[in-house]
Amino acid sequence: MAAKYDVVVVGAGNAGLSAAVKCAVEGKKTLLIDQHNLPGGCASSFRRGRFEFDPSVHEICDFGPEDNKGHVRLLMERNGVNVDWITVPECYRCISTYSDGTPMDVTMPCGREQFIDAMEKYVPGSRGPMEKFFDLLLEVRAAKVYMNDGTPNDAKYMQKHFPNTLRACGYNSLRVLQALRMPQKAIDILGVYWPYLGVPLDEINFFHFGNMIDMYVIRQAVIPHHTSHEISMTFMNRFYELGGEAWFNCRAEQFLFDGDKVCGVRTSLGDVECEQVLANINPDIIDAKMIPKELVPERDKKLSAARNKKFSTKFCMIYMALNRPVEEIGIKDYCIFFAETADSRKEYELMKSIDNGYNILISYNTLIPDFSPEGTCVISFTKLFSESEDWAKLTPEEYYKVKDKMIAKCIDDVKKNLNIDITPYIEEVEVATPMTFARYLGTPDGTPYGFELSDWDGIIARMMDVQADFTIKGLRHIGAGSFMADGYSSTWINGDLCAQMVCADLREGGKK
Ligand SMILES: Cc1cc2nc3c(=O)[nH]c(=O)nc-3n(C[C@H](O)[C@H](O)[C@H](O)COP(=O)(O)OP(=O)(O)OC[C@H]3O[C@@H](n4cnc5c(N)ncnc54)[C@H](O)[C@@H]3O)c2cc1C
Repeated sequence: MAAKYDVVVVGAGNAGLSAAVKCAVEGKKTLLIDQHNLPGGCASSFRRGRFEFDPSVHEICDFGPEDNKGHVRLLMERNGVNVDWITVPECYRCISTYSDGTPMDVTMPCGREQFIDAMEKYVPGSRGPMEKFFDLLLEVRAAKVYMNDGTPNDAKYMQKHFPNTLRACGYNSLRVLQALRMPQKAIDILGVYWPYLGVPLDEINFFHFGNMIDMYVIRQAVIPHHTSHEISMTFMNRFYELGGEAWFNCRAEQFLFDGDKVCGVRTSLGDVECEQVLANINPDIIDAKMIPKELVPERDKKLSAARNKKFSTKFCMIYMALNRPVEEIGIKDYCIFFAETADSRKEYELMKSIDNGYNILISYNTLIPDFSPEGTCVISFTKLFSESEDWAKLTPEEYYKVKDKMIAKCIDDVKKNLNIDITPYIEEVEVATPMTFARYLGTPDGTPYGFELSDWDGIIARMMDVQADFTIKGLRHIGAGSFMADGYSSTWINGDLCAQMVCADLREGGKK
């Protein structure tokens, strides 16, 4: 075995990076390994011709301004990770149809008053329920701060200070919005972000949905100036500065045990001994392939059977570089959602098909003029799928044809919705399917989102007893497949939190 480490972090995705930095900040001898030659997982970049593309980032939430710092900003400041952030000035434009079938084209600004004013313009009479909704979010935010402060939750304290949160969080988001007497059209507009959570409004717990709206609308989203590779490299540089060691092109194949406790990792570069492992790998993969069958805990087997491979949203990305400035092309908004319907349940059902019409257009140069060489611009399209069967059925020949079809659909979406023909300006185009993500991330079905946050498996249920999730002594799951689910912010926070738990375990002799 190579030198012994306090902690080995397997996988340098967002959670792995943040966990590795936290362990190093705490002075632990830490090794970070990743199967790729680059860190970041989803948070990376790639080049085609004279262009650099971001594979994933649309918007990152929970950073917040100086006077209303979000968890992410606090985490970065605490751990000395300084990224060049750009604030996203408005929430979104959405072109779709309301639940009642009438056309919808709305642009929603950030900020409580601005958001409510815009909503009142589109849906007269929505002001009252919207005020109540944002008041409730204030309480939800306070409850979240209380619940995440690392100390045990006191039920009596919560009943006294967060009564409405406790009441609302027993229900799905649609029921809570209806209880607030929100007009259906306002619900449709509020629900635009639902795919970021992967489950429709009639299923997603209000606590999670409310928090997301609070983070995007009140605290505003940010993106990195120089693609998400910049973020990953900033984490890496901080990790090296703190004395951390990293091995790339190194695949973890198995976890090694001393009795029933993990004591090392078998990697493609040899065995490594350690006290604790933080694994940025989906738990189903760990149990199926990386630990001896007889050591798979009963709870893991039951949880996995109950989840029944219900992996969350799958992505197909179409990346394009255009040889004209974005202003000349005429795309004015940073983020435009094209949805067939604003009824989230219906859209979720449609997303089961490979032919669904959902699409998100991101126009990087609208926000960052120097994102690409002068006189050019970079855009991306995100198509989402709630099931992967259609993709799995494709033959190799069909697979290539589907990629071409996806490109044609994107061109068509821009023509149909914005009346702009981008075809003559396309200099580079690349497509990443769920298969591409499966290959690069090593996630089941290629999901970057982990398990679907369906009703019984929602965020509240997962957060109730976080420690119960750690069934294998010496190993903690981090990343989108862990208890805090998907997203840049959630995975950074999850990695940081689990690293704190591991460091506490090590202080107590590392027996857990
Ligand atoms: C197209 C797209 C758009 C997105 N847009 C946004 C957005 O705008 N905002 C947002 O907040 N979120 C967004 N997300 C979601 C977000 O990027 C992910 O939820 C999050 O980054 C997942 O992080 P993770 O820590 O789970 O690691 P992952 O990104 O899944 O990385 C896992 C890492 O582990 C490594 N690994 C796996 N197995 C092994 C092994 N056996 N040995 C060694 N290494 C291994 C992989 O190589 C990889 O580097 C998007 C995702 C995608 C794909």
